[in-house]
Amino acid sequence: METIFAILIITVVLLIFINIGKKIRKNNSWKKPIKPFSASWRKTLFENVIFYNNLDPDKKQQFESKVHEFIINCKITGVETEVDEKDRVLIAASAVIPIFAFPKWHYYNLKEVILYPREFNRDFDTEGTKRSIAGMVGTGYMEGKMILSKQALHHGFKNETDKKNTAIHEFVHLIDKADGSIDGIPALLLEKQYALPWIDLIQKKIEEIYDGKSDINPYGATDSTEFFAVISEYFFERPKLLKQKHPKLYSLLEMIFDQKMAKKLKKPKSREINRNDPCPCGSNKKYKKCCGKN
Ligand SMILES: [Zn+2]
Ligand SMILES: [Zn+2]
Repeated sequence: METIFAILIITVVLLIFINIGKKIRKNNSWKKPIKPFSASWRKTLFENVIFYNNLDPDKKQQFESKVHEFIINCKITGVETEVDEKDRVLIAASAVIPIFAFPKWHYYNLKEVILYPREFNRDFDTEGTKRSIAGMVGTGYMEGKMILSKQALHHGFKNETDKKNTAIHEFVHLIDKADGSIDGIPALLLEKQYALPWIDLIQKKIEEIYDGKSDINPYGATDSTEFFAVISEYFFERPKLLKQKHPKLYSLLEMIFDQKMAKKLKKPKSREINRNDPCPCGSNKKYKKCCGKN
């Protein structure tokens, strides 16, 4: 009788543990996409995201799958604005670009992206004065949320030379934050021995901004956290220029993100896709006979 009782208790305890285990795994795992990647999402990528256009066909597919995964796992909500398909694809692309070398990376610290129509101020007001915030990563009661200005999101992909991309900037903050502290040192991606040289270099580059001797966005001089986000925008948008003007900075960023960006960006401009173009999906068929049908 006692043994039966003991077995029963053990079984119950085991069941509870299995359930807890499942819950933890559930919180830490993103659903995998099941449906095929939509042709109109592909068109949006082709027409707006140079990073995507410069990938080989198999890497393009990998990029699409990461974009797809982001879209089905992260809530995107519009405030005073509608969220359309292009918004979703561009937000997801901004999330995927900096972590593209790390296929297992998921933004577990992000639950929701909130899209505002334009820049906002400290009171989250989009109409009032002193509106200068184009994006932010929430803390406190806003933990797990990111706010983005729709205008800034689109501008980041439209202007391909100004070294600015607000959405990538905010996702880099999340990457920075993933090690527990938001300090400009992405400890999960940067090997320990490079942390000090990295911080030293940031200090030097911030001084150059103060001395008026820098082509880096002065907002980067705020602190090391902002510097890391600002210089990452530069790295992903104008890698060749960065390599030429700040070779040390470039090579450390290449190591952090594990992407040889200066070699990667060959096709300089994104453009609208024509019906007779080769299909961006890499099928070797004409667009009109492949993903562009009807
Ligand atoms: Zn920032
Ligand atoms: Zn196709």
